[in-house]
Amino acid sequence: MDYSVARRRMVEQQIAARGVTDKRVLEAMSTVPRHLFVEAGLQSHAYGDASLPIGEKQTISQPYMVASMTAALELQGDERILEIGTGSGYQTAVLSRLVKRVYSVERIAVLAGRARKILDQLQMSNINIKIGDGTIGWQDQAPFAGILVAAGSPDVPTKYLDQLAVGGKLVLPVGDQNQQILTRIIRQENGGFKREQLMGCRFVPLIGEQGWSLESIS
Ligand code: SAH
Repeated sequence: MDYSVARRRMVEQQIAARGVTDKRVLEAMSTVPRHLFVEAGLQSHAYGDASLPIGEKQTISQPYMVASMTAALELQGDERILEIGTGSGYQTAVLSRLVKRVYSVERIAVLAGRARKILDQLQMSNINIKIGDGTIGWQDQAPFAGILVAAGSPDVPTKYLDQLAVGGKLVLPVGDQNQQILTRIIRQENGGFKREQLMGCRFVPLIGEQGWSLESIS
């Protein structure tokens, strides 16, 4: 099945039409085969305007949300980026096309394994995936020019601020378990942080030491 027409339509109607203008982001999303990151029975829905289940009670984010979060990082191409919540690996693949290296953390081993396999098949070789609690970041590889968190957090985990380079951008959903505000935090040269609210959103919970406890998940 050739999904290139559906993919182009997705980029035009759901992403560009809603105001994402970063050409490199639009280009990456026009080429990454999103249908390969969902299960076989859902492939025909892969370019629809929605999130989809990927197993283990997790979801692949809506295309517009992937585009918006990626664009909010304002990537140039030479960055090292930390992603929390590999999930299907789709967002990882989009980032992989746009930066030098992607470090991605996923707490559920089967999802990380599945993502690794597809990303390897696509010969995306600039990605490191680690299984574990991403709320503590990835200290060995810090600082990062960007940190993208694909799960909702009650607060901003302080390790992310610590692991952000000067001028680096952190994009994450902050709120309760039902709804969050997509938030961008930029590390300033004077050591401070500038905080902006981008839009409302709804993500699965960020579970871990600096996120929600497993017991609190309904
Ligand atoms: N970007 C992914 C979205 C996956 S949903 C995609 O497009 O497919 C969010 C993911 O975050 C889930 O896979 C969930 O298991 C993972 N997650 C939640 N808490 C985490 C944590 N503390 N560390 C790493 N991954 C986490």
